[in-house]
Amino acid sequence: MVEHIADRVFIMYLGRVVEEAPTEDLFANPLHPYAQALLNEVPRLTKGKRRFQPIKGEIPSPLNPPSGCHFHPRCPLADGECRATRPALRQIAPGRTVACHKVTGP
Ligand code: SF4
Repeated sequence: MVEHIADRVFIMYLGRVVEEAPTEDLFANPLHPYAQALLNEVPRLTKGKRRFQPIKGEIPSPLNPPSGCHFHPRCPLADGECRATRPALRQIAPGRTVACHKVTGP
């Protein structure tokens, strides 16, 4: 439904914005690993029958969030930098911002 009513979308994880983009761009090509996992599981009439693939791991407590990138315990790309340093929300293309150490462009 969001895809059809919004012009821009903000994806949040544990209280932080991790990606922000025009709706069409985000649904066509999500860049943040959490946004990719989230949108990959959106039900589609065109995809046919498929199994739901939940994101691995538990949602951490927002009262005691993980260090660095809040998503690192569940991210398949996480490394030492992700565990140690919070990724800044930065513009990686016109109108698109992402908070991830590994994303360099669309
Ligand atoms: S900063 Fe690291 S842990 Fe966080 S989403 Fe990007 S790759 Fe994954």
